[in-house]
Amino acid sequence: MTTALPLPLDAEHPARDLVQAVNHAEFDLVTWLLTIDEDLRLSTVLALRGRTRAEAYRYAHAAELAARMPELFDLLGADGRITVDHLDTVWSQINRHLTTLTRSEARRLGPVIDTAVAAALTDWMEANCPVGLDAFALVVQETLASVASGLVAATELAEQDTQRLTKRGTKLVLDCGSETTATAVWGAVGEKALEMLREARRGAEDQDSTDSADSAPVPSMAQCRARVLLDQLGDTPDTMRTVVNLYRTTVDGKTGVGGAFIPKVGYLSDVTAEMLESVADLVRCLPDWETVLGDESEAYRFPTMQRAAMEGRDGHCRFPGCDIPADRCEHDHIVNSWHTSPDSDGPTSVANGMCLCRLHHALKTAGLWSAETVDDGVTVIWTGPAGVIAVTEADGPLSPARAGPDI
Ligand SMILES: [Zn+2]
Repeated sequence: MTTALPLPLDAEHPARDLVQAVNHAEFDLVTWLLTIDEDLRLSTVLALRGRTRAEAYRYAHAAELAARMPELFDLLGADGRITVDHLDTVWSQINRHLTTLTRSEARRLGPVIDTAVAAALTDWMEANCPVGLDAFALVVQETLASVASGLVAATELAEQDTQRLTKRGTKLVLDCGSETTATAVWGAVGEKALEMLREARRGAEDQDSTDSADSAPVPSMAQCRARVLLDQLGDTPDTMRTVVNLYRTTVDGKTGVGGAFIPKVGYLSDVTAEMLESVADLVRCLPDWETVLGDESEAYRFPTMQRAAMEGRDGHCRFPGCDIPADRCEHDHIVNSWHTSPDSDGPTSVANGMCLCRLHHALKTAGLWSAETVDDGVTVIWTGPAGVIAVTEADGPLSPARAGPDI
């Protein structure tokens, strides 16, 4: 027998209507994405929403799932409680296993898995079961374990050998691949960190007994673990080689007064800027912006100064919504250069250049998205599939579109 579960909000509550409207709108966007080329869904939703790549991926995955399981998509869309995150969760749970298969194996096994998962989730919804993201993930896992247990075992074995180190801001994330390896590494680091902590405590006690006024605080265990790893790798200027693009402020013609800016880091104090400059092997200064704009090169490749000026103006990839830092981007001729397109006359200059990450540069080069500017690259107008238009304004520290002090 089916029993109606209590809803988190009273059915009459106005917030319920708002939440349902948001959820339905998410499904409407996914439905629209189905009308455009599959390869352009990711870039299009990034351009339309302009939020994060992670969000764009969720929509692209949801659209792919909607195409594979149309009846389930309609059922979930009508419910009002289901979001794009639910669709992405189902996609991710299945995709985790499909990536371990060859293309022909995935073509053969994929539809079998999709049919089983769609049937299980349809039963789940019709039985009025919980609709949390974890609940959806478990339904998919349970289905896969029963219809493709060999595949699940193969994935688990493959993941044990997959170690990855990734960076998010100041945090490095080490995926050890398996619980066993993670526990072993944690134990080894912990042992050394404990030694360090005991030594710091002994030092603090000695200082207490001599009544020293400036005793150093004892670090936490987490700080000691970090110290153990950094000591292994060497985080001193002697052992590390780092490229830092630092933009200093100019006030009344004097450079280096006030704050400074580092792409993807943000604004810094003049004290930190001085310190970074003092350890630099090489410091290059940009000429003033008018000189930069007037500079045209005969070469195809943008000269160093033009690249630095474009990176300072753009801050990040100029595709709408993309935040890949400019110093990790490629340098694109907005109007194609005659070096690559004999019919075109785009000069190699900051006014005709922009920073694009590899993916978005490739989409433009392939003609899937086109770009133009009317103000020397400060504003870029993009045209994409189905006539979608999106505009980006340069918002790096050197952008003329920025209000505020000259930098
Ligand atoms: Zn990009």
